[in-house]
Amino acid sequence: MLALALEIGGSHATCALVHDRNLVAQRTIHVDKPSFRHMLPSLEKLVRDVIGHAGIPTNNCAGLVLGFPGIVDSRSGRVISTNAKFNDAVEFDMQRWAKEQFGLRFVVENDCRLALLGEHFTGAAMDAQDVVLVTLGTGIGAAAMIAGQPLRGKYDQAGCLGGHLPVVLAGRTCTCGNVGCAEAEVSTWALPQICRDWPGFSGSELASAQAIDFACLFACGDRGDQVATEVLARCYQIWGALAVALIHAYSPEVLLFGGGVLARERDILPPIRAHVHRHAWSPRDVVQIKTAALGPSAALYGAVPLLREVLV
Ligand SMILES: [Zn+2]
Repeated sequence: MLALALEIGGSHATCALVHDRNLVAQRTIHVDKPSFRHMLPSLEKLVRDVIGHAGIPTNNCAGLVLGFPGIVDSRSGRVISTNAKFNDAVEFDMQRWAKEQFGLRFVVENDCRLALLGEHFTGAAMDAQDVVLVTLGTGIGAAAMIAGQPLRGKYDQAGCLGGHLPVVLAGRTCTCGNVGCAEAEVSTWALPQICRDWPGFSGSELASAQAIDFACLFACGDRGDQVATEVLARCYQIWGALAVALIHAYSPEVLLFGGGVLARERDILPPIRAHVHRHAWSPRDVVQIKTAALGPSAALYGAVPLLREVLV
């Protein structure tokens, strides 16, 4: 099957032509637009550039799949709810847009759920049927699969709000309206304020950093910075608590962690495994906790299994 895959992130959009388990052509652009509608001309050009580069007629593709950061109804092809990003996508008729622009069948899916489909199709979860994927990036994405089927539920939010599971009762205010969400307690967007609020911050190397992200935090920790070391220890605790919550909720065979933060997987996964070993009620002790295999391309690979699902 040939599929066109499009993924929108916080600051980028990627389009790929996917042939079964191979990415035939791929291109990423930086996008910094105030709304989804403002971004459309860039997306249209991106898709056309990828098709043109591949030299394959558009109508050879089974469809166009969009991975979108929000709550999505893949059955009706609509975005249901966003979280302070691309809010105008909720009202937008994407199926009509794809038909008019490219003459293609269109399917939209939550970006992390699409990445999970990709990891199950040709990545780190090929041999598993019960899988949870957590992506640690700007926020925290999550998706769950049971018996080989992605969880969606009647209201389309089953499994995909793992980053918004509360892990601290009187915690930080989250963008979703809740308090103490895992994402509010440890994610790239929350990290600068977490560090600034940490006792001793003004004397930390972090205070003079141009931008506080996880690369910076790990680098400062590597140099022995006390605040960075303490914040990292707290991050491991939060990720561990989230892992326990997801294991209790979905009983996965495999719990995958992906996203840019996993560049330091050697530091991140061992304390998560130790936390799960100590705290999870998992009597068979069979959950494999490992790194996702496909990196930022996972959602692109998910286009083929998603189209196969909806075209049946
Ligand atoms: Zn939240």
